[in-house]
Amino acid sequence: MISERVGNIAPSATLAVDAKAKQLKKEGKNVLNFGAGEPDFNTPENIKEAAKKAIDKNITRYTPIGGIPELREAIAKKFREVNKIKYDASEVVVCAGGKHVLYNIAMAILNEDDEAILPVPYWVSFEEIIKLTGAKAVFCNTDSHFKLTAKDVEEKITPKTKMLILNSPSNPSGAIVDKNEIEKIAKLAVEHNFYVVADEVYEYFVYGKKDRVSIASLNDKIKNLTVTANSFSKTYAMTGWRVGYCGANKEIIKGTENLQSHSTSNISNIAQMAALEALNGPQDSVKEMIMAFDERRKFMHKRLNEMNGVSCVEPEGAFYAFPDISETKMSSMEFASKLLEEALVAVVPGSAFGSDKHIRLSYASSMEDIEQGMDRMERWVKGRLL
Ligand code: GLU
Repeated sequence: MISERVGNIAPSATLAVDAKAKQLKKEGKNVLNFGAGEPDFNTPENIKEAAKKAIDKNITRYTPIGGIPELREAIAKKFREVNKIKYDASEVVVCAGGKHVLYNIAMAILNEDDEAILPVPYWVSFEEIIKLTGAKAVFCNTDSHFKLTAKDVEEKITPKTKMLILNSPSNPSGAIVDKNEIEKIAKLAVEHNFYVVADEVYEYFVYGKKDRVSIASLNDKIKNLTVTANSFSKTYAMTGWRVGYCGANKEIIKGTENLQSHSTSNISNIAQMAALEALNGPQDSVKEMIMAFDERRKFMHKRLNEMNGVSCVEPEGAFYAFPDISETKMSSMEFASKLLEEALVAVVPGSAFGSDKHIRLSYASSMEDIEQGMDRMERWVKGRLL
């Protein structure tokens, strides 16, 4: 008999689709996987070399719980230079990937019966993480382009509101919250005294207009109420290394470290050395990846809109397309399972992100796979609609 707490959560749909697609591939099936968001690029050589050197130099022991001082300092510097947020190293903690940051932070901030505002569509793990703390996820609308507005947030604020999740660019929609809305949301947070968890994992994956702003950079009051969460997974193609981090006020950082001291302790020392090199070394690979993703984004968006029964808002950031498939009259789960079964194309049902009218496709795959995948999906949808 397992606990109610764990019994009540659903497995991660993104990881489930990924596992199923990989299993089918192993069985020899020619599956095209647009499931989990994972760059198809390899971790850059300089980063891998730094890890190899760390092993050879026996940098393999425990480290301070929240990360080695050099890495925390490098992260604080990155926050200052890239995000214009004045965190110092003591306001930074390193965790085992972005998801672990969000879990730790939710545990450190939320009490049972607190409310956390979650804009829809949302990344699958947010809802379950909030549930695990005993708090309640309060769903909040976004506009027809999935953009969050301060007005929508304001409608959901109650005396129990303790947190707002602000994920921009968004997984799964790719939407970027407008700067003027960020400013208004910051005012609301200060006025009503709730925390903002700014998940900025896709900060570099911004195409077109580049006025994305980190909410914590606006002023000291909102900085003190914000946790700026991030990870090395997407920016440096380091998904398997599990390195995430956040900046926050010292009380939250201390709480997170205490929690971590009884669960994971420090993350892998070797992975920390690799992450340090990622920040200090050349950044060319990041630019190359973004340019490639932009091309794939445009192509996938165009092809999706050319399909009967499918329409897709242009994603402004991240590496996902989130098309509306409601005209096909299938639920998102039916659409995704039949597409995988009958056309060997893996996508994630939108129900996992709070919208049964949509599916999510990651375009962090090769152009060749995307071309083939769009052909297969187009033929399959056409057949279904006959
Ligand atoms: N964040 C990625 C995604 O949404 C990785 C999978 C996961 O951890 O959910 O696909």
